[in-house]
Parts: sequence; structure tokens; C-alpha cells
Amino acid sequence: MGQKYVYLFSEGNGKMRELLGGKGANLAEMTNLGMPVPQGFTITTEVCTQYYADGEAINDEIKSEIMTYVSKMEEITGKKFGDLENPLLVSVRSGARASMPGMMDTILNLGLNDVVVESFAKKTGNPRFAYDSYRRFIQMYSDVVMEVGKAYFEKLIDEMKEKKGVKLDTELDAEDLKELARLFKEEYKLKIGEDFPQNPTDQLMGAIEAVFRSWNNPRAIYYRRMNDIPSSWGTAVNVQAMVFGNMGNTSGTGVAFSRNPATGEQKLYGEFLMNAQGEDVVAGVRTPQTIDQLKEQNPKVYEEFYKIVYTLEKHYRDMQDMEFTIEEGKLYMLQTRNGKRTAAAALKIACDLVDEGMISEEEAVLMIDPKQLDALLHPQFDNEALKQAKPISSGLPASPGAACGQVVFTAEDATNWAVNKGAKVILVRLETSPEDIEGMNYAQGILTVRGGMTSHAAVVARGMGTCCVSGCGDIKINEEAKVFTLGGKEFHEGDYISLDGSTGNIYGEAIKTVAATISGNFDRIMTWADKYRTLKVRTNADTPKDAAQAVSFGAEGIGLCRTEHMFFDSKRISAMREMIVSKTVEQRKTALTKLLPMQREDFEGIYEAMKGFPVTIRFLDPPLHEFLPTEEEDIKELSKEMNLDINELKAIISSLHEFNPMMGHRGCRLAVSYPEIAEMQTTAVIEAAINVKKAHPDWNMVPEIMIPLVGEIKELAYVKGIVDQTAKTVIEKAGVDLKYMVGTMIEIPRAAITADEIAKEAEFFSFGTNDLTQMTFGFSRDDAGSFLGSYYDKKIYENDPFARLDQKGVGKLVKMGAELGRKTRPDIKLGICGEHGGDPSSIEFCHNTGLNYVSCSPFRVPIARLAAAQAAIKSNK
Ligand code: PEP
Ligand code: MG
Repeated sequence: MGQKYVYLFSEGNGKMRELLGGKGANLAEMTNLGMPVPQGFTITTEVCTQYYADGEAINDEIKSEIMTYVSKMEEITGKKFGDLENPLLVSVRSGARASMPGMMDTILNLGLNDVVVESFAKKTGNPRFAYDSYRRFIQMYSDVVMEVGKAYFEKLIDEMKEKKGVKLDTELDAEDLKELARLFKEEYKLKIGEDFPQNPTDQLMGAIEAVFRSWNNPRAIYYRRMNDIPSSWGTAVNVQAMVFGNMGNTSGTGVAFSRNPATGEQKLYGEFLMNAQGEDVVAGVRTPQTIDQLKEQNPKVYEEFYKIVYTLEKHYRDMQDMEFTIEEGKLYMLQTRNGKRTAAAALKIACDLVDEGMISEEEAVLMIDPKQLDALLHPQFDNEALKQAKPISSGLPASPGAACGQVVFTAEDATNWAVNKGAKVILVRLETSPEDIEGMNYAQGILTVRGGMTSHAAVVARGMGTCCVSGCGDIKINEEAKVFTLGGKEFHEGDYISLDGSTGNIYGEAIKTVAATISGNFDRIMTWADKYRTLKVRTNADTPKDAAQAVSFGAEGIGLCRTEHMFFDSKRISAMREMIVSKTVEQRKTALTKLLPMQREDFEGIYEAMKGFPVTIRFLDPPLHEFLPTEEEDIKELSKEMNLDINELKAIISSLHEFNPMMGHRGCRLAVSYPEIAEMQTTAVIEAAINVKKAHPDWNMVPEIMIPLVGEIKELAYVKGIVDQTAKTVIEKAGVDLKYMVGTMIEIPRAAITADEIAKEAEFFSFGTNDLTQMTFGFSRDDAGSFLGSYYDKKIYENDPFARLDQKGVGKLVKMGAELGRKTRPDIKLGICGEHGGDPSSIEFCHNTGLNYVSCSPFRVPIARLAAAQAAIKSNK
């Protein structure tokens, strides 16, 4: 037998995610558990890969296997494709390994055509239902398969409702819906130039291809990049016999979570609509009822459903998100998956599941997406400021957190304002749809007029950790004119509003926010993470304030203090400039004398904030262009200060111009040219340590001096010589005993390749993967953003290598550097301080490579602690 491309639900199981996708594997698992699942089959993810390999076509072998499975499905259901007596109608749904908004989701009622619908109407005795199903199918097929766009169809429905003088789509009768189906087909022909396909097999193949195509639409690609999902995975396709929630008032459809996805509360949570199909619940066209109301309306179905929900939760040992349909009083399960949840809910659920004895601490640690913690580390509303503010309205608390920003009306504007103006924005929409995903990601908060707790906006915002208030029906919005009114006030683009995603309150003003803290469930999970991780987590901090913030988030030291950052302050930059443009050693020494006390004071503040934890101070590494004055005013002032003719100064500045400052006179090259800079910095580091040690004799003060941009051992040896000589003088003069270490950054490929030699001088290495990536790829750190987009589009690179460590190339150099360094000096301390030190997948790499610590920005410290624990637990499994 050749390769198997298609599986009946009864042939698969829950462990076959890679092949069947999440949805397919879970449908198979529910089938095996004996639950009421409409039967069908799954076309594997490998077929998606084959579809692309075959030039975006389904080859004949696969087509014929699909048709074999259609026959099997016909046998199981006793229905037939295109049959007038007993037609088989199916849903076609995508299902990747990880659930992915942005892709084609669902086509319902496939198999209907002009004649089948007639007999279907007769057979069911319910023509309204039959034509409702048909018009929905034409609409969905046109939208997702042929990409006609849904706006026109919605307009037609609105026109029809207006003509009939009704408000709800359920008030349209069979004739109206039949007419709508006709109008929809007309529109299809107008746009596509062909009649709407009548043959169910053609419809099916068209739908399957649409699912595969949607794997590569820009929204899906964007989502994958955000969530580290490789494009090689592909998506599966599920073809399932239809059951109908729109058969009348004893039918309905809904979604439910076994626990509250916003708070984590242990209570069945969900919404349903009677006489409706799936997309009605999600689209928020009608306001759904809560699942508690189902208990009142149909206790039998509710009880059966309740039992299934908790059987599934126990089975998967995680909170479940389920879709169900009731067809004339009979319950069917259409989907189950581990539910998306807010960060706060994720922490509560993980802790509760441990307390309920369902999972272990390690499993709880593994269950939380480290990136999600970010949402909890963002500011919350200042309590006092919040008390003063009065909400102008409220909506549903769809995704918690505090958001304050300027109103924008389109996802594109959200992206533009955030990227180009650095603005904090709140995206206000009638409702959101998958094409809005990028703008939603850039927004501080999302406010929608329509939609319940399970609407697109709510689900996606929760996944992103973005604050969202949905379903605020009081808003009167004109998206085109970019204006809305609420609470008797008009709001235009750029006006400030604030949202409380935890209460649903909306404020017509900016409200002050405050920093977050770690407590409760968050603290519990972090304590477990610390128990299991072996990697230390340090922080990149240049100020006492940042250092203290990082310590409060659990940092165990500073892995990178960029000393040049200490001079951006307007009061200090002139002394720094003076130092840079000095022509003589005397001039430079005068400038350095001004800088010394500032540096010493800074270091004292940082040591104090770090309370005896190790501190790595990186010597000056300024790309010169960042510091040189460019404004006439600044140049004039500097010339006065230095007692230098302005034209002479201008000549010096232009002589310092570099064509490629990132590879110019920076890092240790400065100290090689001007050793007095290293002397000053060493003096400041050592004197500050002596002073702080006096105040805290019990602290283990061993300053770590780090020399940047080393590529050759002799370079390091030279600078280290200056450091040692200066330190010795300062320590002897103070008459104290102080240890210190000298190490280097490994951020130039040559340093990684010759790390065995470099380790003869260096007592520690810190991998500077920002520069290492820049120089390994030959991509300028400052310019790569302008062309990486084309690389993503063409799938040459799937991720920004400056955000996620390129393990194949740059990672190989890191590994080589680590191994060579250890060969020379077995106890050498190894860390990473590039941006990658806070990225979970890169942290896993660092753990597996045997580094001692990662260092990242203060707000990523908790993320790194959790990611390090996950890496340790996974590698022990
Ligand atoms: C690096 O290059 O990775 C690094 C941490 O240094 P900087 O970003 O300051 O160049
Ligand atoms: Mg660097």
C-alpha cells in the first residue's frame, strides 16, 4: 500500500496531531471515547505539503483517495453526495497542529445545489431551513474559496431585511432566503465569470484547495511568525457530516469552555444561539444566550453536555474549548481543544489543576506560554486615578488588562500609528476579522461594538494578551467617517480613551497606569519554575531603577550594563562628546575627569539596587554616530565648552564620520586607541565597588568587567592589561581586598572561532548575539527591517534572526565558542546578553548548549525564568 493520505475519524487518535492537525486528532479521540461526533474524515497535513510541492494542485492519486473516503462516509451516514432523496452535506474545516486564527476556518452545508436544495426543503418539510442553509453555503464558499468578499452579501441581507421591515435574520422567511440565494449566485457569476458550482465533488475539491491556500495567506504567515510556528507543518482538512443548528427552535449551536477563559474560574462557561449555525455565534450578529440558560431551556441536553465537557477536561487534563450543535433536540460535539485563555486565567487554571491533583507542578510549568506572561507585566490602572475617573459606558470584559491610548478605526491605522508615530492606540471597530490581526497586535486595546465573549476580537485579543472590551452596543460608529459617539460625546481619530478589560468599563479620557507586580498564582508558578530551572536569569540594565525592577521580577544579577547608555542624558552628553572629539590626550583626560564621578555614582546606584548579586559592566561601546552632535546649536555649545574654534570642531566632527559605524571605531577598539578611557572606567567600577562594600560588608562584591567587540586575543590582552594595572593601583590605594573578574563578549565571528585562545585571558564569555547575528548574516542591525519583509514573503527566512536566535548558523558559532572556551578554561562562566536572552526558543537553545545564564531586559525576566524551567523539564523528560 502506498502512502495513506486520508483517515476516517475512527481510524485516528488524539496523539496524531502532527498528521491530522489538532482538530482532526481531537475529533478522532472524541469518536474513540464514544461521544456523539458527526462522522467524517481528515486529509493529512502531508497532503498540504504535497499540494504545494505539486504547484498548488491536488494530484490525482490524492483526489481518488479523497473520493474513496467520501464513499466510506456515504456508507456510514447512509447519505449520498448530490442525492435528491438523502443528500450528504458536509462541513469543510482547516485544522493545523496549533490552532491558527487567520486561516480559512469553516465552510458549512457543502453539497447543496439548485436541485438538492429543492428536495431538501421538501424532505425536511422545512423550506426556510433549506434555503437558509443554501444561502449560507453560497456566501461562505464565495467568500473563502473564491475570495469574493463578504461585504456585498451582507449588504444584500441588510437590504432584504429593510425591504421586509424586519430586524433579525431569523425573521426572514423561506421565500426571502430563496431570493437571497439567487442574488448571491448572481453576484458570484458577476465576480468570477462562471456559474456557482453545482457538482458537490467540484465544490469539495474547491473547498479543500481553499484550506490549503489559506495556510499561506499573509495573515496566517504573520500569525506563524508571531507564534514560532514553522511553515513546513502545513494544515489538515476535516470533512465532516453536517448536523444542523438552524433546523428550528429545538436546534441550536454554541461554544463553551470548561473553565472561564478570562479569569480561570472553575465553572462551565459558554454561549449558544437557538436556530443558528456556527458563524452566527462567533460573528456576533445576534446576541447569544449564556450556557446557564440552556440548563433552563433543555435540562436533558445540558446534562449530557455537562458530562461530556468534564469527561473531556479530565481526559485532556486541561481546560477545554468546545463547539457543539443541537439538531432537533439531539446533541453533537463538533470540536474540542485546549482552550485559549488570558495569562491570568492560564496561571489560575495551572495552579487549580495542581491542587485538584490532575497535573504535576512540572506539567503546570510546561502549560504556560512564557510569552503570555508579558500581558501581566504591563501596567495596570493606578487605583487612585481610576477612582477619580467615571466610565462613560461598558461592554463585555473580553480580555483583561488596562489600556489607554488614541483612537484609530482601522487595523492598518493601528499598525501605522504604532510603528511610524510610536503612538499607543486603541482600535475601535464594529467587529474585527482575521485580516485585522496585525493591527490588533499593535494596539494597546481593542473595543468592538458587536460580538460576545467568543467573538473574533475576544478570542484573538485573549491569545495576544491584549486588553479587549467587546460588544458595546451603545456605541454609534461610522467607521468610514472615523467617528463614534458614546456617553453623549463624539470621539474622533486621535482622541484618548481608556479601557478596562477586566471590568469592561470604557473611559472617555486617559487614565494613569502603574507597573505590575508578581503575586498570587503568578508567584506560585514562578516559584515552581525556579525549582526546576538550571539556567540563571540575569538582566540587561543601565540604571538603578531598571535594575531594581528586574530584581523585583526575580533577576539574579546584571548580565549587561551598557555604560554608553549612561551618557545619553542631556546633562551628561556634552562631557561624552568632549571626550569623543578630543584631539589630544590632555583634552580627553579633562573630559574623562568629568565623566569619572558620574560613572562611579551610577555604578554605586546599580550595585545598591542589585543587593550583592553579580554585576557585569560592559566597557564603552558607542557607535560614534550616536553621540556626535549634529545640530548647529549643540556644536556651538560644545565649542564654547572646549574653548575650540567652531570650524575646527566641525572639521573634527566630519573627520569622525564613518561609513559603517556598526563596524567602525567602537567597542574595545576605542580602548586600544585611547587607553585612558578604560583607565577611567576601571577606576569608576572598582571605586564604586569599594564604597558599596564598605556599606554592605556581607555582600559578595566581585565586579565583572566586560570588554566588548573583541576579535583577537591580543586585543583583549592589551585592554585587560590596562584594567589590571589600574585596578591594582585603585585597590592598593584604598588599602582593601577586592576581587574582580575580566571577561569578554563573544560577538564577532572571529572571537567565536578562536574562543579557545580568547579564554586564556577571559574569565567569562557573554555571547553578544545582536552583533554576532549582524556579522554572521552580514545584515545591518539598523537596516534589516527594511528588507526582511521580502524574505518572509518568499519564505527564505521565517523569523527575524535578531529576535529569535538562528540556531543553524549563529547558534553553531555560540556552541563552538562555548565548547572551545570550556576546553581552555573548564570553569569559564558562559552567558548570553543579546536580545535573544529573553526569547523562549532561544533560551531553550541556551539551556541545551550548557550556558550558565541568560540576560534580558527587566520585563522579560519572568518570561526567561519560565522558559528556562520549561527547557530543563523538557530535557529531563
Ligand atoms: C550584542 O551585540 O548582542 C550586545 C548585547 O551588545 P549591543 O547590543 O550593545 O551591541
Ligand atoms: Mg554588541
